Amino acid sequence: MYDYLIVGSGLFGSTIAYRLKKLNKKVLVIDKRNHIGGNVYTENIEGINVHKYGAHIFHTDYKDVWDFVNSLVPFNRFTNSPIARYKDEIYNLPFNMNTFSKIWSDVITPDDALRHINEEKKCMEGKTPNNLEEQAISLVGTTIYEKLIKGYTEKQWNRSCKELPAFIIKRLPVRLTYDNNYFNDLYQGIPIGGYTKLIEKLLDGVEVKLNSNFFDKIDEYKKISKKIIYTGPIDEYFEYKYGHLEYRSLEFDTKVLDTSNFQGNAVVNYTGNEVKYTRVIEHKHFENSNSDKTVVTYEYPRDYKDGMEAYYVINDEKNNKILEKYNKLKEKERNVIFGGRLADYKYYDMDDVIKNALDIDL
Ligand SMILES: Cc1cc2nc3c(=O)[nH]c(=O)nc-3n(C[C@H](O)[C@H](O)[C@H](O)COP(=O)(O)OP(=O)(O)OC[C@H]3O[C@@H](n4cnc5c(N)ncnc54)[C@H](O)[C@@H]3O)c2cc1C
Repeated sequence: MYDYLIVGSGLFGSTIAYRLKKLNKKVLVIDKRNHIGGNVYTENIEGINVHKYGAHIFHTDYKDVWDFVNSLVPFNRFTNSPIARYKDEIYNLPFNMNTFSKIWSDVITPDDALRHINEEKKCMEGKTPNNLEEQAISLVGTTIYEKLIKGYTEKQWNRSCKELPAFIIKRLPVRLTYDNNYFNDLYQGIPIGGYTKLIEKLLDGVEVKLNSNFFDKIDEYKKISKKIIYTGPIDEYFEYKYGHLEYRSLEFDTKVLDTSNFQGNAVVNYTGNEVKYTRVIEHKHFENSNSDKTVVTYEYPRDYKDGMEAYYVINDEKNNKILEKYNKLKEKERNVIFGGRLADYKYYDMDDVIKNALDIDL
């Protein structure tokens, strides 16, 4: 008999497993995939740690979370400074003085940049934005919208910005310094050796069964465990009683190239509509690998259908209403603790997931 069955070996399930192991509990972790780590899984290809489910950069303001992960594996000092490519023009992200001085050749000071942005926003003065296009223009003006937002967002959602609701973009931070660091958090880095090393440390000494879907043997799993930690999709747990929650999905096309440096940066966003992918990730730059080869991943947004990986939740009114009903059912499941991005149907950064797993009552 196990004290706990943990469904899912992602960051949430693995962090809980680590805590339970410290409490001397008998734990079994199962995962339906053929590897541990959920979406943070990294695989070593040609000496390069490849982020199999998209680029993952650890960043946090929680000192306890940062200290916790660093007590398990060393982190490097990677700083996320993505590049945007619009046709054959290259810009720095997030929108900052480097971006503005490249867009407008007469921009040198923050006042110069603001003058341009405010001039371009004037067309929206006194109007309430009716769609994402109008919202974006009201925040950053027409040029930044056209070159850096429009194509990228339309590819992400597979819809025109004119048809997308304004609320998707609440804020567009305009940074009036020459600072390309994407995140504002105090701590940032990549685990040296990849995220799988971090998960291995969390699961060290814990029994793990891969290729094991909870729903294939649900009665048996319930019999052999006193409590369950469930980190899979919440609608699936309740047999889609109130309908399916919606997601956006992604497709990754990963290639090994016979060159040592393909794009000179870990992350390049393609902001125009001339190519179908949104990002190209060159994995070796996360850890300064000195491999002779390189591994790149082209990221294509996809409409989500059953059987695909569910990546991004869609927290619109329709899905939030369905979620509310499932959350009520959760309260009745006395021996089950729900957590992680799929069971909460919420976008979490990695540090939020770890924080939740460290803080939750067991
Ligand atoms: C493209 C992309 C990029 C991201 N980049 C960043 C980033 O740069 N920085 C950052 O902080 N965060 C990032 N995130 C968020 C990060 O991936 C998540 O916070 C984290 O992976 C969530 O962990 P989790 O354990 O909740 O879920 P998951 O990693 O999804 O783990 C859930 C696990 O449960 C298993 N499972 C599900 N159902 C069953 C079942 N029935 N039976 C058995 N097993 C089951 C799954 O196989 C999976 O392994 C990104 C997310 C995406 C999609």
